[in-house]
Amino acid sequence: MAKGFFNVPTAINEPVKSYVPGSPEREEVLAQYKAYYNGNVDVPLYIGSEEVRTGNTRTMSPPHDHKHVVGTYHLAEKKHVEEAIANCLESRKKWAAMRWEHRAAIFMKAADLIAGPYRQKMNASTMIAQSKNIHQAEIDAACEIIDFLRFNVEYMTQIYQDQPDSDEGMWNRVEYRPLEGFVYAITPFNFTAIAGNLPTSAAMMGNVVVWKPSDHQIFSAKVIVDVLKEAGLPDGVINVVYGDPVMITDTVLASPDFSGIHYTGSTAVFKDLWKKIGNNIDRYKTYPRIVGETGGKDFIIAHPSSNTKQVATAISRGAFEFQGQKCSAASRVYLPKSKASEILDFVKEDIESFKMGSPEDMSNFITAVIHEGSFDKLASFIDQAKEDKEAEIFAGGTYDKSKGYFVSPTVIVTTDPQYKTMTTELFGPVVTVYVYEDSKWSETLKLVDTTSEYALTGAVFSADRYTLEEAAVALENAAGNFYINDKPTGAVVGQQPFGGARASGTNDKAGSMQNLLRWVSPRLIKETFVSPVNYRYPFLG
Ligand code: NAD
Repeated sequence: MAKGFFNVPTAINEPVKSYVPGSPEREEVLAQYKAYYNGNVDVPLYIGSEEVRTGNTRTMSPPHDHKHVVGTYHLAEKKHVEEAIANCLESRKKWAAMRWEHRAAIFMKAADLIAGPYRQKMNASTMIAQSKNIHQAEIDAACEIIDFLRFNVEYMTQIYQDQPDSDEGMWNRVEYRPLEGFVYAITPFNFTAIAGNLPTSAAMMGNVVVWKPSDHQIFSAKVIVDVLKEAGLPDGVINVVYGDPVMITDTVLASPDFSGIHYTGSTAVFKDLWKKIGNNIDRYKTYPRIVGETGGKDFIIAHPSSNTKQVATAISRGAFEFQGQKCSAASRVYLPKSKASEILDFVKEDIESFKMGSPEDMSNFITAVIHEGSFDKLASFIDQAKEDKEAEIFAGGTYDKSKGYFVSPTVIVTTDPQYKTMTTELFGPVVTVYVYEDSKWSETLKLVDTTSEYALTGAVFSADRYTLEEAAVALENAAGNFYINDKPTGAVVGQQPFGGARASGTNDKAGSMQNLLRWVSPRLIKETFVSPVNYRYPFLG
């Protein structure tokens, strides 16, 4: 029984460590990197209290050294997915009934474990699994996931505090029930923080979860599981399965108890999931919540009044950090003719100074792209651009997969604003630039708005307030996260809630109260103190 209305500690953003040469954190993360690199971890499925080893395994290799093996993971069969669902439903009985402050304590402890003893395990595993340089790992696998956990706990309490008014003689109250059934979390490779957030945000609100991480993130997903176990998350609240995504998904979506999906990944997969859920709608006990954050074709548009060095830096960072594999990465850029060559020359200078290679060498700004499929796709678009009359490779344009999946940061300049790399999400270190006539600023805003099916992030650079205002109106629906005089990447939990609409997702803003509201089903309780004893109203006379 609760004997108080408890406040949680105020969430503040986790400070980003610098990893400058000679810093203790640099030594620690490199030592952990070596230990993982030379180790051989065997990652089981996590079903209830069991670590299930099916014997049907796949190896895990760093994208920057794809012949080197750092471990194996076990693939689920249909029966394991069914067991995971059954475990969820059994665990729900106690978990959904647990008082919120005990749930909160588990996730706040997880945040503290990541901030402290697990920080370099999270970072090193992310450097290896997803080929992130240490800065990219730190802002993702340490700071962002810590922020998700701490801020979501605070948002949970704000949701619970939101209560209706009560007229005289009655007491109205709302309780925020977890969904009836279980939630399915499908996570992408590119952010360890997203992998951690999608299952935990639903679990925090009292839900039980089947979590299917990306095959390309399992090495770092295992560390998340270790953290949650040490934080005291009861067995069976989050069950983890890997393997054939179609088989796993079809099994999950066939369950009458499926009550919601928390997905991040590509648009095509999400549309397919939505169709499957629609086709199964008669099976379900409740209408499932469908939350998906999907692809992007994120833009930068510079006005003739913009500062050329600022625009160039936004392109260099926004398009190429983590090899352009952020859903928010700038991938189409609109430059005014009067400034284009100056901006592009700055970008070229930056690119020529980037070092590319393993994240273990901390002087490398650029590391490898995630897998061979991505490498081959990027190489084919680059090759095509070399052939096409309407495109020119302005910088980069080389690639090599002999040791790791390395694609050099590439700038394509096109004369066709509908050129395929202006419209297709490539998810790699390739940015395409279209140069517009300075007099066509307003028309170019329309072009930005209508060129892509996506609407995730976008940035406008200008020194003229009227044009900033015009852009904000013209591009109102072109981005869910809209940046003024800043790059379109790097959203911080609690400061820039993240997500977009159109083909970029349901815009339920990860790292916000709006997102957590999707994982509860409110029940209103009205209690009357002195109940009427006569049906007749006064107007009846
Ligand atoms: P992906 O679509 O290949 O995979 C995402 C997840 O879906 C993985 O777990 C994968 O195994 C699973 N999956 C793949 N095919 C499936 C199927 N047929 N049925 C069910 N599940 C299936 O995406 P990715 O390469 O891991 O991540 C990159 C994509 O994610 C990009 O499109 C990027 O824009 C998007 N993304 C979006 C956001 C956002 O907030 N909007 C954030 C990160 C990534």
